[in-house]
Amino acid sequence: MKGIVILGSTGSIGVNTLDVLAAFPDQFRVIGLTGHRNRELLQQQVERWQPAWHGTGDQLEGLVDRLQRPEVDLVVNAIVGSAGLRSTLAALEAGKTVALANKESLVVAGDLAVRTLQKSGAKLLPIDSEHSAIFQAIQGNRTRDIERVVLTASGGPFRGRHRNELSSVSVEDALNHPTWRMGRKITIDSATLMNKALEMIEAKWLFDLKAEQIDMILHPESIVHSFVEYRDGSVMAQLSPPDMRLPIQYALFHPERPAGPAKRLNWQTLKCLNFSQPDFEAFPAPKLARRVLEEGGTTGAVLNAANEAAVERFLNGTLRFLDIASACQKVLEAHNFLSTPNLEELLAADRWARQEVEQWS
Ligand code: NAD
Ligand code: MG
Repeated sequence: MKGIVILGSTGSIGVNTLDVLAAFPDQFRVIGLTGHRNRELLQQQVERWQPAWHGTGDQLEGLVDRLQRPEVDLVVNAIVGSAGLRSTLAALEAGKTVALANKESLVVAGDLAVRTLQKSGAKLLPIDSEHSAIFQAIQGNRTRDIERVVLTASGGPFRGRHRNELSSVSVEDALNHPTWRMGRKITIDSATLMNKALEMIEAKWLFDLKAEQIDMILHPESIVHSFVEYRDGSVMAQLSPPDMRLPIQYALFHPERPAGPAKRLNWQTLKCLNFSQPDFEAFPAPKLARRVLEEGGTTGAVLNAANEAAVERFLNGTLRFLDIASACQKVLEAHNFLSTPNLEELLAADRWARQEVEQWS
């Protein structure tokens, strides 16, 4: 049996992870569960799974020690936002296999995470569906033969709208994602294309890619989860219905592929798959990602924190939809750039960017 810890077990990815575990009752033992505000759900999960320990992130002392224990084989990080950074670093430091949903930790501190991983011999496996698709499409191939990766994006609820049609969209409309049911923050990120922006940066660190090797395309059906193009012109893709239980299961079982609970493609109803180019005037976030990919340093921490604060303000009604990306851009431009920041400097950049957006009017 594999010993598993799920950080952020009460969220959308956490619940889907437990759903996968339920399908394989003899293969996993839940060692630890953490939540944040939803204590009732955490309590229910504790009763059902009987972990050795549980708690909220801020209650748990010595997370590195807990993760380092020999009974832990696998750590799932399903926390949302840069609040998950310390957990990612702790799990990597402990030298465990880390199944990562928390893309923000790589956006903020990808360089540090990769160095921590190399030092400890930990393994980092993606849960994000696009990165799982890329990971699946590179099995058996050489990374040096990759020409580019193309991340697919559903385009969110506002795909196809012009910039002037986005100025007064409501929170409710933005939360109404056409293909995925997810936490609120990532759902807004999908509507602004900031989710794809963060994923472009995540891909750089997971697969050791250069800025010019990372691209995106709109694909409203969310069935092709990304493409990998090789030097010889061959393109590999991974297809499946939009259901996070599949990429979660792949990370938990890699390299095995047992029959699991995820939805299957229905070949009778499958007709056409559509692709188109994004409108970067209406959805400028991927352009900001390009800048982070090229400049590195503190830019990822600043973009991520500015976005987290801006999404929070959009959700509570004090910022308009188009202002999310504008605020991020302004803060990126104003920030005091450091090219090789340490953890403290990254956290300071994160705090500064949040404050800037909180005061933005
Ligand atoms: P969610 O809001 O549903 O859940 C977030 C989890 O993090 C909850 O368990 C919550 O208790 C915990 N949490 C929140 N703030 C915390 C804090 N300050 N300290 C400790 N724990 C905290 O979010 P989600 O949709 O499950 O997304 C989780 C992560 O997975 C995000 O990074 C997201 O980008 C990524 N992701 C999600 C999906 C999806 O389908 N939901 C797909 C791909 C990637
Ligand atoms: Mg994704």
